[in-house]
Amino acid sequence: MKELIKAMDSSNSRNLSRGLDTVLSHIGRNSPEYAGFVNMPVFRGSTILAQSLEEWDLRKSETNPMASYGRFGSPLTKAFESAIAELEGGYQSLVFPSGLSACTHALIGLLKAGDHLLISDSVYGPTRNFAEQVLRRMNIEVEFFNPTNLSDLSVKLKDSTRVIYVESPGSMTFEIQDIPAIAEIAHSINAFVVMDNTWATPLYFRPFEHGVDISIHAATKYLIGHSDGLLGIATANERAWPILQASAHVFGETAGPDDIFLAMRGLRTLSVRMERHWKNGLQLAQWLQSHKAVAQVLHPALPENPGFKLWQRDFLGASGLFGVILHPMSKNQLSTLFKEFKIFGIGLSWGGFESLALLADPLPRLDDSNGFKLGHLIRLHAGLEGAQDLIGDFSQALDAALAVG
Ligand SMILES: *Cc1c(COP(=O)(O)O)cnc(C)c1O
Repeated sequence: MKELIKAMDSSNSRNLSRGLDTVLSHIGRNSPEYAGFVNMPVFRGSTILAQSLEEWDLRKSETNPMASYGRFGSPLTKAFESAIAELEGGYQSLVFPSGLSACTHALIGLLKAGDHLLISDSVYGPTRNFAEQVLRRMNIEVEFFNPTNLSDLSVKLKDSTRVIYVESPGSMTFEIQDIPAIAEIAHSINAFVVMDNTWATPLYFRPFEHGVDISIHAATKYLIGHSDGLLGIATANERAWPILQASAHVFGETAGPDDIFLAMRGLRTLSVRMERHWKNGLQLAQWLQSHKAVAQVLHPALPENPGFKLWQRDFLGASGLFGVILHPMSKNQLSTLFKEFKIFGIGLSWGGFESLALLADPLPRLDDSNGFKLGHLIRLHAGLEGAQDLIGDFSQALDAALAVG
C-alpha cells in the first residue's frame, strides 16, 4: 500500500499531495488490533504491567522504551510519531507537550556551553526569548541573522557554530528562507539545521528533502486544527535522532493522551482543511493588496512578494497565515477596526478552523532593514469560513476605522 502510494507520487513532487491525501486517511490505524474500531483508543496510564520477570526485562529494552512506563508514551503516541515521521520524510519523531517545548528541547539537546547558535531574526518570539534568556545564561553564544541575507549568515558563521535555527516563512513577517542554501552552509562545518515547519505543515514543505536535520511542528496549530489542544512534535534525520531523543526523555517531557488523539484525528482532514486555508488566505491577501488603507501585504504566495520565487521553488502550498501592514492610523482608528470585526477573533495561536487577527507591532527584532513599509502590522489567520464573508468583515471594519478620526 505504502509502496503503491510512493509509486504514484514518483518523480513529480507537486503530485505528492495526491498520494498524501490517501496516506492521511489510513496512516497510524490498526482496526483489527482494537476490536475493529476505526480509530485507535486513548490510553491513559502510568504503570504498564508485565506477566513475568522475563517479560519485564524485555519491556525495558533500549529498542522499545515505550513498553515499560507511561511517560514514554502509549501505542497511540507511537502511532502518531510514526505517522509524522513518515509524512515529514524523516527518520523518527517525538511528541512534546507544546510546540514551544519541541523548539526548546531540540535546541538544548544539540547545544552545550561554548557553542554558537545562529537564529533567524524573524523566529517565533518565545523561541527567541528562550535563546536570549536561557541559552545565553548557559554560556551558549546566541546570534541572530537576517533571514533573507545569506551573506549575513556566512559572515556570522564560526567554527563553534553548532546549530542554525530557521523558520520559513518567518513569524509575523513571513520571509521565505533559502533552506537548501542554508543547509549547505551549515553542513559545510558539520552544524545542524533545525527548522520550525509549523506554517507549511508536513504537506506543503518537505524539510528533509531540503537539508533540514530536525523539523518541528507546533501540532497545536494545523495538525490539531480546532484550537482545542496543545502539542508539539519534532522529527529528526538519522544523524540527529539520538540527540533529539536524549534531549526529551531525560527531561521527563511527555504529552497528554487526549491531545495526541486530537492531533491524530486532525491528520485525517489536514489536506482538505489546508486547501481551504490556502485559498481563503490568498483571496483575502489579494483583496487587501488593492485596498487604499493597506501599505503592504506579507504573503509569500503573492507574486509581488520578495519570497515568491523561493516559495514557488520549495513549497507545495500555502497556509492561511499571513501579515498585512496598514498605513499609519490613530489609536482610535485601530481600536475601532478591531472592535468592529464580527468574524475575525482577536487572539493568539492559529491553525484552527476560525479566523483571527492580531496586532503585531512593534516587532521584537534586531534588523528591520528588509523593506517593510511603515504602519501597523496585523497578523491574519484565514480560517475555514467563506472567503467572501472574511473579505466583507475586514472591509466593513476598515470602513468603520477610516470613518473615525
Ligand atoms: C505557536 C507556535 C509555536 C509554539 O506552539 P505552542 O504549542 O503554542 O507552544 C512554535 N512555533 C511557531 C511558528 C508557532 O506559531
